[in-house]
Amino acid sequence: MPELPEVETARRSLHRAVVGRTIARVAVLRPAAVRSHTADGFARALRGAAITDVLRRGKALWFVLGRRVLVFHYMLWGVIRHRPAAAKGGARAAGSRGGNAAAPPGASLVLSLDDGSTLEFRDLQLSRFALLRAGAKDADQPEAIEPLAPTTTLQVFRRALGQTGRIKAALSDQDRIAGIGNLWAHEILFEAGLRPDRPASGLSVTEMRALYRKTRQVLRNAVEAGGEPDFQDVFGQRGRYRLMVYGRAGQACRVCGARIRGGRLGGRPTFFCPACQR
Ligand SMILES: [Zn+2]
Repeated sequence: MPELPEVETARRSLHRAVVGRTIARVAVLRPAAVRSHTADGFARALRGAAITDVLRRGKALWFVLGRRVLVFHYMLWGVIRHRPAAAKGGARAAGSRGGNAAAPPGASLVLSLDDGSTLEFRDLQLSRFALLRAGAKDADQPEAIEPLAPTTTLQVFRRALGQTGRIKAALSDQDRIAGIGNLWAHEILFEAGLRPDRPASGLSVTEMRALYRKTRQVLRNAVEAGGEPDFQDVFGQRGRYRLMVYGRAGQACRVCGARIRGGRLGGRPTFFCPACQR
């Protein structure tokens, strides 16, 4: 499931690929993914629109189209790919595999841009689109803090995290903090030296400060690394973050050599180092 670092990685690569382009053609291949309009109305509204910016709000991408915004929520999974214009005469070597002639399998929406390139959205799992007026509030957007925002101070973070439940559940609660899911919560807790099953109410002042600092540091590093290794940006480039605990049950801790423990916590997979985390 894409989390903040992956959505931000997608946003950065999209920004390079599509800002300044105009949408020339729209193919809605799975109308159910469009929340706000019929397939025809959606296509009509997008056709001819210039993409002036690409923003991120939590785990959603906002394509700014002048006075309208195309909102894409990743939800469980989704792949966005930018394909350069198909080479004339097949001379172009790299990066244009597949071209833009036919709709790729699993595609829900394909936008053809004025430079001949295409933007395809495929393999969507519960992902959805909506077209809003600029400045309108997205009903799907939770009232949660942005962990990397300059306004998210230690105090703001501590208040948002709250005192209820386990620390892993609190950190990945989308109504409290936007964009942190099961994977990055575990990586953050490893770096902060905290076991995922600790009660959120039981952290000392020092532990809370470490959690705040590591949350921002891990997310920033993850964005710089292009996200987790299974994620690909819109050019197909994989994430390069080296996971410390997530998915590594039974393997040696990269810091101390102890065996990483796996299990389940609140119905989700959980991972921690019994020596590095307390
Ligand atoms: Zn360790």
